[in-house]
Amino acid sequence: MTHLRAGLDDLPDHVDLVVVGLGITGAGVALDAATRGLTTLAVDAHDLAFGTSRWSSKLVHGGLRYLAHGQVGVAHESAVERGILMEVTAPHLTRPLPMLVPLMSSVSRFQAGLTRLGLRAGDALRISAHTGAETLPAPRRVSATEALRMAPALRRDGLRGGLLSWDGQLEDDARLVTTVARTAASYGAHVRTRARVTAATGTRVDLRDELTGVTRTVTARAVVNATGVWAGDLAADITLRPSRGTHLVLRADTLPGLTVAVTAPVPGETNRFALVLPQPDGTVYVGLTDEPVDGPLPDVPEPSEAEIGFLLDVVAAAFARPLRREDVIGAFAGLRPLLDAGPGRTSDLSREHAVLTGPTGLVTVVGGKLTTYRRMAQDAVDTAVAHGDLSAGRCVTATTPLLGAAPRDELARLELPARLVRRYGTDAALVLATARRTGLGDDELLAPVSDRVPVTLAELVFGVTHEGAVDVDDLLDRRTRVGLVPVDRAAAEPLARRALELASQLV
Ligand SMILES: Cc1cc2nc3c(=O)[nH]c(=O)nc-3n(C[C@H](O)[C@H](O)[C@H](O)COP(=O)(O)OP(=O)(O)OC[C@H]3O[C@@H](n4cnc5c(N)ncnc54)[C@H](O)[C@@H]3O)c2cc1C
Repeated sequence: MTHLRAGLDDLPDHVDLVVVGLGITGAGVALDAATRGLTTLAVDAHDLAFGTSRWSSKLVHGGLRYLAHGQVGVAHESAVERGILMEVTAPHLTRPLPMLVPLMSSVSRFQAGLTRLGLRAGDALRISAHTGAETLPAPRRVSATEALRMAPALRRDGLRGGLLSWDGQLEDDARLVTTVARTAASYGAHVRTRARVTAATGTRVDLRDELTGVTRTVTARAVVNATGVWAGDLAADITLRPSRGTHLVLRADTLPGLTVAVTAPVPGETNRFALVLPQPDGTVYVGLTDEPVDGPLPDVPEPSEAEIGFLLDVVAAAFARPLRREDVIGAFAGLRPLLDAGPGRTSDLSREHAVLTGPTGLVTVVGGKLTTYRRMAQDAVDTAVAHGDLSAGRCVTATTPLLGAAPRDELARLELPARLVRRYGTDAALVLATARRTGLGDDELLAPVSDRVPVTLAELVFGVTHEGAVDVDDLLDRRTRVGLVPVDRAAAEPLARRALELASQLV
């Protein structure tokens, strides 16, 4: 996998298309361009998924929220893209997530009726996008007993039942980015981390190797700026108005027995909710906030204590057990790359994506979300192809499975470690085969760091050999997500160091 690595060594002087940024949008552009037969260079100043793409709620949204705002086109596009991800391109990295709206005393019968109508509209969206009911079942009302079976820690007093619906959940957002980037590299794209673009026009980029300081220029027929909240640094004509969204991380046993996501109403507000999202690794995320951000953008945004307190209060109102600050084992924040659409609250700004061509021909693609990355990439490459007068095949990403993808029943039949199948699909076999080349036995390669930390040496080694990780941070914060919980990260660090050492002997 020499196509995916750090630095600027052995790059061509000229390619058809350069894409700047390796979040989900840039990785998607690289895959789209490479599968159309274009010679492609994709670079990130830091690492794959270094920016917003690793701080999301990790949902594959059907677009219900847009419907509520009358944005029918965006809602339909979301539902279509959700279906493509879940049924064609990434069944291995997505799963159906049951979501429960508990009908508590604070939710009036009128509000419950409206929510039920909304969920039915969401199901109509699913049908219009041709996503099967076996992938995402239709919504239904459940009794209080059933609601408590799915979420035993809910407050019981005044609970008169719940509304159950289904949406998509990602195994992990950074894993999606990594897999898209690796797939792009498998189609021949040059994918480079630690490669900062210091200046860009529509036909050239000036690059700096962040490991060695070496600089160079690559020319291209088209250049796409996919740098998310940093887009304005390369395209002075673009203004973003980022907003910060924060999530808490709790241990699963803080809210025992939770098998569904819970949509918890924000006390005192009629149409605002927080999501309580069980994760596959023994944690639960609680999110999210929407705070305008002013001033210089940090590389890694920090949640504020006020946001943490707000989210704890929402959970406390819906669940029986009072939550304490000590229950919060981690917290993370991301910046939404929202285009400045004039005055208004950031939460009302359009979540739609935009493709904008600047005065030098630099194509910027911004906005949108993880769910719609494929469509964003298609639109950006269409624009770049037209502008650069490139001859390219048609877009094929809606029918091109990501590496490791297979139908769900096939994945279920694989006789390989369940965690590896969940995170790599059919490539679990390659992960294991690569790790075995170290000469270590499976007991050691597949042993979790601890009871609470399921990360294994096998996946860390693969992160280095096949996924371009060059240091402990890449491995713990982006190839795996153990870094979301500082105490777990510290426990996993020795294993990450060992993986780097073992992998260096394999290449
Ligand atoms: C809190 C939160 C929750 C969200 N939840 C969801 C969700 O559940 N589902 C969903 O579908 N969407 C969700 N979204 C939206 C989604 O996460 C974003 O729209 C998406 O990740 C943006 O990706 P991006 O690739 O455009 O930007 P980024 O991921 O920020 O990528 C930009 C990249 O550009 C690189 N870069 C910047 N400048 C340079 C340079 N000069 N040279 C080289 N590289 C550079 C950065 O290092 C970075 O890696 C959420 C967003 C937030 C903030």
